[in-house]
Amino acid sequence: MAPIDGNFDYDLAVIGGGSGGLACAKEAVNLGAKVAVFDYVTPSPQGTKWGLGGTCVNVGCIPKKLMHQAALLGESIHEAVSYGWEVPRHQDIKINWGSLTESVQNHIKSVNWVTRVDLRDKKIEYINGLGEFKDAHTIIATMKNGSKKELTAKNIVIAVGGRPQYPAIPGAMEYCISSDDIFSLSHPPGKTLVVGAGYIGLECAGFLNSMGYPATVLVRSVPLRGFDQQMARMVTNEMEERGVKFQHKCVPISVEKLESGQLKARWLNTELQEQHEDVFDTVLLATGRYALTKTLNLDAAGVTCITSNGKIAAETEQTNVPNIYAVGDVLEGRPELTPVAIHAGRLLARRMFAAATQQMDYENVATTVFTPLEYGCVGLSEETATAKYGADNLEIYHAYYKPTEFFIPQRNIKNCYLKAVALREAPQKILGLHFVGPVAGEVIQGFAAAIKCGITMEQLMNTVGIHPTVAEEFTRLNITKRSGKDPNPASCCS
Ligand code: FAD
Repeated sequence: MAPIDGNFDYDLAVIGGGSGGLACAKEAVNLGAKVAVFDYVTPSPQGTKWGLGGTCVNVGCIPKKLMHQAALLGESIHEAVSYGWEVPRHQDIKINWGSLTESVQNHIKSVNWVTRVDLRDKKIEYINGLGEFKDAHTIIATMKNGSKKELTAKNIVIAVGGRPQYPAIPGAMEYCISSDDIFSLSHPPGKTLVVGAGYIGLECAGFLNSMGYPATVLVRSVPLRGFDQQMARMVTNEMEERGVKFQHKCVPISVEKLESGQLKARWLNTELQEQHEDVFDTVLLATGRYALTKTLNLDAAGVTCITSNGKIAAETEQTNVPNIYAVGDVLEGRPELTPVAIHAGRLLARRMFAAATQQMDYENVATTVFTPLEYGCVGLSEETATAKYGADNLEIYHAYYKPTEFFIPQRNIKNCYLKAVALREAPQKILGLHFVGPVAGEVIQGFAAAIKCGITMEQLMNTVGIHPTVAEEFTRLNITKRSGKDPNPASCCS
């Protein structure tokens, strides 16, 4: 029971040792607070589990980026030939899935270790147990061996993140995998059906296909829903041209295991009301994520959450119970991204322990989809800007471009495209920047800072580019959609 005199065991207890929770905990100890962190991973339905650090490190951003890099390197080996490299029998070059997953998992384990040491050095109490509320100041953790550990804290931060959703179809739980399993899969995935065309589904389909594992994507509504749809089409066009198959307006019906060990998947085309089936080696579900609040016993603390998705609505990260806060993916209506969780966690710690007042700004957060041709963006999509300001009040600048390094290997340039969504009235404040092409994340990051400073088209056009780069294309934008002029590049250096 929480002490009534206010003598708590800790100043802060954090439930969830992922991006947001750890950032908040570390900032809090730096500010002199006594902190405990609970982190526990419930194995996936296929039995996959991992160490400290949360989704990003173990089954998210990091292994995803490493596999994307592995795929890009495969392409580079083939392209190197056109640049004069004598690659022996390059047509036989293939990936060794076992070596790849071993390298990826070794890196992850080293990050787990460093994270653990960091917590010890900072004197943050790490409790490897599944935490739940006993009351608004007390948490009980169930440890791996079933024993219980209880502690009290003045403030509590819920940073439990989320896990992949499984559709309620026969065979999903028994035979399918998710992003929780793919990065440590013990065998090559082979021919893979990816269910879902959000960014996780497309990224997985992209790297698998580039590694030589044929990928088919089931798209329920539209790919990359919520992103600029013109850019999303560039991304999927490129994937299709590289051999990824898309089944549009399709939902899964069942997955059945055949005697051969392969999986027969059935799906329904909801537009044509037709059923289809095919046999795959792997079925990867990427149909969204749910917040991990069910096991928290939120009622005991009086914290309310949204019943349909388990998320917590907390405008300034403070829940309806004043001493209980939430950060990261568990929050309703916030971008589910690592840097968002980290930034919000740090600012929250400063407000709790350093009397700071700065709130997290969730607007204009840049992000990148790591598909074979990457898509980076910041700010509003053309659709959202149109809905908010009206098409007449917007000017959309756009261009196709030719990355210099694509010429020699004669790479497809059809989908290298960028656009700026701006207000029409001078000086044309920029509302959104969108870029499909190589190293899109690196291109967009700096422009995200410019958008935060309120950059206008006038200023962008007055910025001198770095030649020859793909990022300079933003400084060369001058054709508006309204003009109807051809947005194809005339030449590289004029
Ligand atoms: P998490 O990092 O999920 O951490 C929550 C932790 O709490 C977990 O360890 C969980 O096991 C633990 N936990 C849950 N309940 C309890 C409990 N009751 N007791 C104790 N511990 C508990 N973001 C990007 O910015 N860029 C990317 O490229 C990117 N790629 C991604 C790719 C994939 C495949 C996925 C799945 C996600 C990706 N993300 C990416 C999203 C990013 O990983 C998340 O936004 C981020 O990890 C959220 O941090 P968090 O602190 O909210 O939760």
